[in-house]
Amino acid sequence: MTGPTVPTAERTPDRRAEFIDAADRLAERFAERAAAHDQHAGFPHENYIDLADAGLLRLSVPQELGGLGAGLGDVIAVLERLATGDGATALSVTMHISPLGQWGAVWRRTRSPRLAHLLREAAAGSLIWAAVTGEPGVRNDMTDARTVAEKVAGGYVLTGRKIFATNTAIATHFSTTARHNGADGGPRLLLCQVAMDQPGVRVHPTWNAMGMRATRSDDLELDAVFVPDEQVVHSLPVGHLDRRVLETVWAWAMPAFGAVYTGIAEGALAWTVRRVVHSGRAEDAVVQDVIGACRILLETSRAMLYRHVDEVENGRLLDQGVQSGLARCAMVKYVAANNAVEVLHRLVDVVGGPGYTRNLPFERMWRDVQAGPIMPMGNLAARRLVGADTLGVVTAPVS
Ligand SMILES: Cc1cc2nc3c(=O)[nH]c(=O)nc-3n(C[C@H](O)[C@H](O)[C@H](O)COP(=O)(O)OP(=O)(O)OC[C@H]3O[C@@H](n4cnc5c(N)ncnc54)[C@H](O)[C@@H]3O)c2cc1C
Repeated sequence: MTGPTVPTAERTPDRRAEFIDAADRLAERFAERAAAHDQHAGFPHENYIDLADAGLLRLSVPQELGGLGAGLGDVIAVLERLATGDGATALSVTMHISPLGQWGAVWRRTRSPRLAHLLREAAAGSLIWAAVTGEPGVRNDMTDARTVAEKVAGGYVLTGRKIFATNTAIATHFSTTARHNGADGGPRLLLCQVAMDQPGVRVHPTWNAMGMRATRSDDLELDAVFVPDEQVVHSLPVGHLDRRVLETVWAWAMPAFGAVYTGIAEGALAWTVRRVVHSGRAEDAVVQDVIGACRILLETSRAMLYRHVDEVENGRLLDQGVQSGLARCAMVKYVAANNAVEVLHRLVDVVGGPGYTRNLPFERMWRDVQAGPIMPMGNLAARRLVGADTLGVVTAPVS
């Protein structure tokens, strides 16, 4: 069966070059501020003023709705460039740019008035998004949640606690998941959109991590939060793999995360190259070997990232079936995140002792990049899914 072709965004290669130029300029500025934000685990609010001024907060909103109309390929190019300056800012803004891009792609196909309204608000600058599904003790794979949704007149009441709530320091709204146990036909996972100022939404300042400190990925509590029916945007049977979740969340978030970690590693490589050249070590064969290995790793990641973009934009990701499509998404993020860790690991040999000091940016990049393989889909989950899929084993029913 042939799936629908996802309409590509209204972009040209020239526009991508413009987006990249803008991201490069911001990355330079963000790099100057990154150490201070990292040290105090402070959210980079001023970076968001710059992102808004450059138009990048409306990057993935369709042009007809007031945005820049960037497609997935543009988005990952921009996220990679931003991350060369500050990985934490790039990851934070991913939680805004990626969901808007997902909905922009759906809107191009469906012309949904609800999505049009939301995307226009984002283009106008009055809406900033976060995507908050992680929970302690629950695999963050959009198949289940401990947060409970209770049906009441006109909507649901959500109660639970989410973790790693990146971008909630600035977000006006977030997507989240909750389990509705009382649903006809068995428990269902609800995908909900919630305003940050809704009564019962509370951010707890728990974030104290080794890296990505400026993302302020705090805990988010939902204390009997009312969500009207129209803000429940999707529902699927618990434990199922889902086509719509593949088409939106997985197809976009996996390359977006991969791009951020590729960008951090690219920033570390560029920093190391400048240092090596400046100190006259460029002719050293051992140094050349390490730098070459790192360049090859990063180009491999990019090849995977842009192959994925091609598969998404040509509808081939969905053609393969939901489980295999998910495995493809897992693979692209797996390669990019692990290659980024490998790049930093190899560069340490060249940078040596200075790489271990907080006075230089390398140490922050080294810590930041460690988050990549942990983020969904984590290494174990990714290898297992790809392995099972290759072996022809069905891992879960599909909805
Ligand atoms: C910097 C950073 C920012 C983040 N931002 C967000 C965010 O904005 N929103 C959000 O929702 N989450 C976010 N996350 C959280 C992320 O989604 C995870 O929920 C979180 O890292 C918890 O990880 P975990 O290892 O407990 O994962 P879990 O998914 O709970 O996995 C637990 C363990 O089981 C293993 N495992 C998982 N699945 C399988 C499987 N199928 N087969 C075998 N083993 C498996 C894992 O490898 C792990 O060892 C962020 C994480 C980081 C590091």
